[in-house]
Amino acid sequence: MTRTKQREIKLFFLIALPLAIAALGMLWTTSRMLDGVSESVDRQEQSRTWQAVRSAFASAEERLTGTVTDNAHWDDAAKQSYGPIDNKWMYDAWGVGTADINYDTIYVVDPQGNDIVSYRNGEKFTLPSRDYFGDALRQTLGSLPNDNSTFAVITTLVNTPNGLAVMAAAPILPTNGDIKIPAARANVLILASSITADALARMSRQYIVDGLSVSPLGTSAATAYLLRDRWGNPVAQASWKARHPGDAARKSYRFSAFATILALIGVMLPISFVHARAISKMGREEERSRIAARHDSLSGLPNRVFLLEELTKQLGSAKTSELALIFVDLDGFKAVNDAYDHETGDNLIRAVAAGLSSLVKGQGLLARLGGDEFAILFGGRDASSRAETMATNILTFVKEPFNIDGRIACIGASVGIAERGDEPLEPSELMRRADIAMYDAKDGGRNRWRRFDATLDLKRSEDVSIAGELRAFVARGEFEVAYQPMVDARTRAIIGVEALARWPKSSQRNLPPDRFIHVAEEHGLIDDLGALILQIACREMSQWQELKLAVNISPLQLNNHNLVPDIKRIAGENGLPLERLEVEFTETVLIKNPRRAKQVIQELQGCGVTVALDDFGTGYASVGYLREYAFDKIKLDRSLTQVIATNTATQQVVQGTVLIAKGLSADIIAEGVETEEEAQLMRLAGCQQLQGYYFGRPEAVATIGTMLDHETAEPAKVMA
Ligand code: C2E
Ligand code: CA
Ligand code: CA
Repeated sequence: MTRTKQREIKLFFLIALPLAIAALGMLWTTSRMLDGVSESVDRQEQSRTWQAVRSAFASAEERLTGTVTDNAHWDDAAKQSYGPIDNKWMYDAWGVGTADINYDTIYVVDPQGNDIVSYRNGEKFTLPSRDYFGDALRQTLGSLPNDNSTFAVITTLVNTPNGLAVMAAAPILPTNGDIKIPAARANVLILASSITADALARMSRQYIVDGLSVSPLGTSAATAYLLRDRWGNPVAQASWKARHPGDAARKSYRFSAFATILALIGVMLPISFVHARAISKMGREEERSRIAARHDSLSGLPNRVFLLEELTKQLGSAKTSELALIFVDLDGFKAVNDAYDHETGDNLIRAVAAGLSSLVKGQGLLARLGGDEFAILFGGRDASSRAETMATNILTFVKEPFNIDGRIACIGASVGIAERGDEPLEPSELMRRADIAMYDAKDGGRNRWRRFDATLDLKRSEDVSIAGELRAFVARGEFEVAYQPMVDARTRAIIGVEALARWPKSSQRNLPPDRFIHVAEEHGLIDDLGALILQIACREMSQWQELKLAVNISPLQLNNHNLVPDIKRIAGENGLPLERLEVEFTETVLIKNPRRAKQVIQELQGCGVTVALDDFGTGYASVGYLREYAFDKIKLDRSLTQVIATNTATQQVVQGTVLIAKGLSADIIAEGVETEEEAQLMRLAGCQQLQGYYFGRPEAVATIGTMLDHETAEPAKVMA
């Protein structure tokens, strides 16, 4: 499965899972709500049914109350009930009615409860009323009024041997006051109507109560409601088939609710899938651009942003573990980039990146900071010693010639190492330290590594103070220049001098030129300092018309577009003909800005200035450079002179260079000649000029004057 697919599936679940959980939650809640609603609906339905059942019984009681009123509050009945009993009348008036549906039992009892007549279901009934109605009869009779002037009816539910019945009792009284009845209490007419199955069925229909039934007390039934007599005593229990309208509603609503939710899920799932894909795509694009923002497009390596992030992370988290940062700056890369095309340069960077990657191989984070700068971040134990080993390996690797598309490129590297000690460090500070260490390696002569220590920082702050003092000197036009003789290799006569800047003696400190020139370059003071040295040298040297004056030009001065006009003006103002002026460039000029170098060289030569290539043999400048830039003079570096006596290979290099220089009609001068032997060997190798302590150290102008005076007095003897 591809990573994209995995990611889409993951995202899908991330979206779908909460949706599914929400849907299940909705289902559950809805279900609980429906349960609640249905229970309450069912409860309402139960109570409604109970009301209906009560109404049904009440209505039966009411009906019987009406019937007993009609029959007991009746003049004829009053006439017939007190005195001798006419059985025929009794039967016709009341006995026949017991076959009817309205009542099924009738008793006429005297106030003591003795039965006078009784019928049931259309026939004479022999069961005594006190047996038929039980205790209820006594209570009923007791409840009737004592006087004969008040008509009243007592109606109640009562248990009989024939089951539950409605009973209504009333005193038999005339409506007409003319009819007299005995002074004692009136006889009582009792009607009863059994609650039969038919009666219950009628009630069920009429009051919409399914399966209404009545059972004796204590019978177990699912829904049993107590039926009470008029005095509040339970007499029976009613039950019915409970209807559950809530249940039905719940079932139908549950179905539609669930169907809706399921439909929602059904719609949501494909939507979440589509969303997952879209989000994943967005995520991929975002990730792609995030990767692009944090990676270098040329080498594919992490870039500065990435490194900084990682550095921040590691500095923030692993407080106790070691951390080392390596900065690698390629030396001579620009030369390759300029000598060939940019594609070759790009391929060289790729080759270096690949080589570094295999060296680092999971030990740390390799990043390209831009241009020809790389960085490696080491974390964990032994980070410091691993960084040192790595630095050595990098130098060995980079020193090997690279074969780029059939072209051989020779480069080097300067490496700086910075570590996190015990004190807390900002990422930018660690990077600054690695950078300083790297520059120190470069200053120290390249192809080496340096570890940052506090003295480098001290050097930095000292640089700032040197720059301040230098600025003040330049502003005052105050500086010193020493002159070192350049002699003819054959006659040993002084043919010129090299002007070398000297830190003014008025200062509290004494600094070598390498140091303050470097500071001047770093702090943007080199143009002004160069102009000042040139001005002093031209002024001091103008007096000796036959002497050449050589001045050093820093590579950075080429950035000044007024360089050539300034040189011409200063020489003119100080009375030095341009033909006497010699300008020395190191090869770094050619490396850093070859096009501009070529232009400046041509312009200077165009106005008669001699152009010399300084320090030849130290760096990467190959013989190819000599052809490319038509130097008038080549200065062989002191390092070659030092070994000429002992090293035959060096002798061959010198001889080869001399041959080429001759072909280009350039002069050759050997620097740093300290012994007679070196002077001889260099001359024999083909150098026309010599320079070094052997012939004279850099001296103040007065000393040069003395030397020249001495020379005229005692002409140099010509060497063989
Ligand atoms: P450079 O241009 O190669 O100058 C020659 C250096 O070699 C001088 O060092 C000189 O004193 C030293 N030297 C000459 N003969 C001998 C010898 O026989 N033995 C030994 N051991 N050393 C010898 P110095 O004066 O310390 O200058 C160092 C560098 O500072 C110069 O190297 C040059 O690159 C730079 N520099 C000096 N003055 C100026 C200046 O005015 N402008 C610029 N841009 N750079 C300057
Ligand atoms: Ca020089
Ligand atoms: Ca030199």
